[in-house]
Amino acid sequence: MLTITKCPTCGSDKIKKIRRKWTGTARGQTYSVPRLEFYECPSCGEKVYDREAMRKIEAHSPALVKARTS
Ligand SMILES: [Zn+2]
Repeated sequence: MLTITKCPTCGSDKIKKIRRKWTGTARGQTYSVPRLEFYECPSCGEKVYDREAMRKIEAHSPALVKARTS
């Protein structure tokens, strides 16, 4: 299991796992993932996603959704 205790960008140990709605963009389209769990650093704003988070983001991406409905 992936556990992050230090921010890979600034080295802060304040980075912590949070769970909230995540919003991102892909190919100019905005999409969101409800209740996504990921790490966020309060010092520099860096976000780190574990494998499960990546999987959820991919599942919600416009490219995939479009492929599913067309
Ligand atoms: Zn940081």
